[in-house]
Amino acid sequence: MFFGNTCHDDRLPQRGEVPEPGTRQGVRASIFAATQCNRAGTMPSLLCLNRADTYMRGIMAHTPLMPIPGQIDPVPVAREITPREDGRVDLIGLPRQRIAELFAQAGLDAKQAKLRSRQVYHWLYHRGVSDFEAMTDIAKTMRPWLAERFVIGRPEIVEAQHSTDGTRKWLLRTADGHDFEMVFIPDADRGTLCVSSQVGCTLNCRFCHTGTMKLVRNLTPGEIVGQVMLARDALGEWPKGRMDVADEEDEAAYTADGRLLTNIVMMGMGEPLYNFDNVRDALKLVMDGDGLALSKRRITLSTSGVVPMMERCGEEIGVNLAVSLHAVTKEVRDEIVPLNRKFGIEDLLEACAAYPGASNARRITFEYVMLKDRNDSDDDARELVRLIRKYKLPAKVNLIPFNPWPGAPYECSSPERIRRFSDIVFEAGISAPVRTPRGRDIDAACGQLKTAAEKKSRSELDRLYAEKQASLG
Ligand code: SAH
Ligand code: SF4
Repeated sequence: MFFGNTCHDDRLPQRGEVPEPGTRQGVRASIFAATQCNRAGTMPSLLCLNRADTYMRGIMAHTPLMPIPGQIDPVPVAREITPREDGRVDLIGLPRQRIAELFAQAGLDAKQAKLRSRQVYHWLYHRGVSDFEAMTDIAKTMRPWLAERFVIGRPEIVEAQHSTDGTRKWLLRTADGHDFEMVFIPDADRGTLCVSSQVGCTLNCRFCHTGTMKLVRNLTPGEIVGQVMLARDALGEWPKGRMDVADEEDEAAYTADGRLLTNIVMMGMGEPLYNFDNVRDALKLVMDGDGLALSKRRITLSTSGVVPMMERCGEEIGVNLAVSLHAVTKEVRDEIVPLNRKFGIEDLLEACAAYPGASNARRITFEYVMLKDRNDSDDDARELVRLIRKYKLPAKVNLIPFNPWPGAPYECSSPERIRRFSDIVFEAGISAPVRTPRGRDIDAACGQLKTAAEKKSRSELDRLYAEKQASLG
């Protein structure tokens, strides 16, 4: 949905006609605006929606313009979020401070709001409760007060699948009906949750099934952290006591309680650096010692190379970085990762060299999908080594056998070719393991994720861009 500056439908609340922000009427007015405009096929006014309620911002977190690069060019569009019809606010995804503000707006005095928000925050993110009645240190009379005004959301599970190799995939649905996926990959020494950042992806990497979907929208912080919370629900892994008492960085303490979910990779659907704010806000909740308390060393964010956001990623999130390199020449990378036409290999590697926090102890992972006769020659391997040396990168290389999907324009390199490629990189002193594909039988492997939404055409993106420019005046 696009929000125009003026609303064409005079049945909708306009400037000056909107009830006080922060009131229930305000919420209803904005829901009315959104649904009526949808029905009338017109655009609700950004002004009237904004005016309708600052209260709504609690539900929607921020709704900044989102860059939609299409093939390679950024196209800003508004992120679409459908508010809850019952007017209650979903607390999942909100930081402690925001919860306190909402409690104050709902009538608690400042001291109470602060105290209650601290308690509720702990129950939500550290203990994983999904019912206010379970919050035993909150007075019995207070719990219905909370339940009337707030909800504790989780993405809806539409389908759960189990691979023969133990990999699990969940098809999830947002409150406004968009499907996305998350995958859990158990190993002997760790369990990795592969989390989505967007419904679909705006980039069109030619070897990636998700890239054939249209971008429906960015996931909110609640929908991102909600995936990790759902996985903990499913694995029965909420702690009984506090985990933040132990040193957050203490690896031994971390696995000692035998948990299955030990690592997170932002490698599901979407490009996390094109949804930077929401990914950052969600990961902060995951990393907070009184939140989900997972060390930043156990979280890896994968980007296809959104160079301008990489420094902020290191500074503001501080997680491990993985970069989808996949090719070492402009010609091939332009073809398989079209974002390369905007941010080329040299710029990308310079940004890697400057990535805050990268060191020999915390190496940058270069992902390299093995495509038969496209990027898998001995020369490619040698060029990869040369580039890593040239930029003095603390690097490891992950060789990913291409995972096929119906209609894919590539084939996977042969096992012998992959082995030879790996040997060349290894011999240069750079770790280059071959990743074993997981969950292929349930289409859960890298690049196989795709839900029912369809890809927007280039002309449709251009039309949306023109509309947006016009509406911005
Ligand atoms: N958008 C981000 C993260 C999600 S993709 C990115 O591109 O980095 C996660 C990883 O899976 C990326 O390295 C991606 O290039 C890889 N991938 C995509 N499609 C694949 C396929 N069909 N086979 C193997 N790996 C694939
Ligand atoms: Fe998007 Fe990553 Fe797939 Fe490229 S590889 S289309 S960036 S999800």
